[in-house]
Amino acid sequence: MNSIISFKELGLAENILKAIKDKGYLQPTEIQQKAIPEILKGNDIIALSQTGTGKTASFTLPVLNRISSEFKTRKGSTRVLILVPTRELAIQVGDSVKNYGKYLKIKTVTVLGGVNINPQMQDLAGGTDILIATPGRLLDLYDKNAVNLKSVEFLVLDEADKLLDLGFKDELYRIIDLLPQKRETSLFSATLNEEIRELTKKFLNNPIDIRVKEEETTANTITEIIHPVDKGLKNLLLLKLFNDYKWERVLVFVNSQNRAKRLLRFLQSKNYSSDTIHGGLTQFARTETLNKFKNGKTIFLVA
Ligand code: AMP
Repeated sequence: MNSIISFKELGLAENILKAIKDKGYLQPTEIQQKAIPEILKGNDIIALSQTGTGKTASFTLPVLNRISSEFKTRKGSTRVLILVPTRELAIQVGDSVKNYGKYLKIKTVTVLGGVNINPQMQDLAGGTDILIATPGRLLDLYDKNAVNLKSVEFLVLDEADKLLDLGFKDELYRIIDLLPQKRETSLFSATLNEEIRELTKKFLNNPIDIRVKEEETTANTITEIIHPVDKGLKNLLLLKLFNDYKWERVLVFVNSQNRAKRLLRFLQSKNYSSDTIHGGLTQFARTETLNKFKNGKTIFLVA
């Protein structure tokens, strides 16, 4: 992008600019420069972008701007629905929405599976401006008559490819069918495949195509390096890199829960404070583990 636009020039309201300033952001990222004006104008968008590019703010900021300037009473319903594939992402997006909206009078509720449903039902009583949800739990709440989706004005599908990869297609289609036809929809995906195209064709209205440059799909604070190595040497290589680069905290992604458990045993046998996180744990354990890693109590987190 040649000329850099400021958040203010994108047309965001003063009390949103203030929250952005508190976060310390100096200028919008590329996806934000492209998506924010379109959502402010009322266009549907399909945006190809990955985590780390600032995509959460690229839909949250303009949606907050719109709902706070176009004042309507909630009447027990939901105004904005943000669907996300994982519980962790729900918590993260919920925190972002609250943060960016802290100077607005906006009610935000986050619902996810794996935890008691009752407090979520109470939170939803009387409706909410913004609802962040994983699909399964949202349908559970709907089936219990705890959520009203009749006047949703904005739908955001975050990490739509992952929603489909995780097998949420039926849930997703069922949820979208419950929403008013007249609404605005933003779809974010890291990849574009046939299923995403089908989803777009079915549920989006003349969407604007937004792409960020390939090299900017990964945050520019990240360097990626490939180390070809024999299977049996992977653990030792990990420790060598850890020592050579004097890493302080390491997040290791592996392809199965078993591999995670084996690597954890190895790291613990070398006396490194380590944990694993995977779908077999309760949501409480997952959140605790993540917090320990964020607070620096764990050096290696195997996911
Ligand atoms: P996301 O891609 O939404 O997961 O965001 C990745 C990270 O970038 C988050 O930690 C955000 O707080 C941060 N971020 C988002 N927008 C900006 C910006 N304009 N300037 C600096 N950091 C940002």
